[in-house]
Amino acid sequence: MFVPREECFVAVLKVKDEIMQSGREYLRQQGFTEILPVILSPITDPLHHDTFDGTVSFYGHPYQLTKSMILHKQIALRTLPRIYCFSPNVRMESAERAGLGRYLAEFVQLDLEARDASREEIMQIGEGLVVHVIATVINRCPAELSRLGRELSVPKTPFPRITFCEAKERFGQTLDDSLSASLSAPTWLIDFPRSVREFYDREDPQRPDILLDMDLIYPEGYGEALSGGEREHTLLRILRRLEQDALDKDKFFQYLAVAAAGIPPSAGFGIGIERLTRFVCGLDQIEQARLFPKTPGKIGAV
Ligand code: AMP
Ligand code: MG
Repeated sequence: MFVPREECFVAVLKVKDEIMQSGREYLRQQGFTEILPVILSPITDPLHHDTFDGTVSFYGHPYQLTKSMILHKQIALRTLPRIYCFSPNVRMESAERAGLGRYLAEFVQLDLEARDASREEIMQIGEGLVVHVIATVINRCPAELSRLGRELSVPKTPFPRITFCEAKERFGQTLDDSLSASLSAPTWLIDFPRSVREFYDREDPQRPDILLDMDLIYPEGYGEALSGGEREHTLLRILRRLEQDALDKDKFFQYLAVAAAGIPPSAGFGIGIERLTRFVCGLDQIEQARLFPKTPGKIGAV
């Protein structure tokens, strides 16, 4: 039967709506409070890869479009114990990334953080969230899934785990892609080395240079679902990590002033909503997962 493209897109947007609603339901049940996003700030995630500069003039002062709310999440935990946000991120990624099917220059993370949580606890929240979202979509969107020709099953918990080191031995440099292509269920990739991650992921006190962090990798080649971990929170350790990454402390002075006053220990993660929609709907390209997509390097989209 011929199904017009529009009809498929309507199905995708309905499923996406259910993904967001069920994500909210789950996090509320787990005691999280939704906060509203920060779009502009003098501080944002420095990221570990290069993106084009997103600085705008805010009354003559350089402010940045949010690349991720990580630093604001840590600061928000001074007020609330468990928070989440549907956070729009602008990352003007290099044009070569467009072809990979999983990068947008503007996307949304469901970004959460919990005070005093360990990586173990936050991984359980991640598993619970993914399971709840998939089970709800299967339950509430059968017509949409069948229109998209997508057969989904609820993953079993606990999800399997592999360390970065093991994955690198098995899959080499193109680790993310080959690991994901080899999987039939979502799998945790854990224990990244310090050199490949941002300064705020906490170093394991027992294993120098290994971080208490993780990615969740989708099966079937859909790639990375989320990144997160425990966080550095003491001023001394944050300063040391900034130095090790050769980052300019002055650019983070507002954040450092809060860290001096006290940032609580925490763990959290951010899961990309368009990537989750792409996986749940079985879409070829991430652009098919949202209205008004901005493809890296491509000008002209509204
Ligand atoms: P990160 O902390 O940089 O790994 O970002 C958290 C999550 O956001 C990732 O695991 C992806 O699901 C999603 N994400 C990151 N960058 C992009 C992008 N350029 N386009 C779409 N989703 C992204
Ligand atoms: Mg990541």
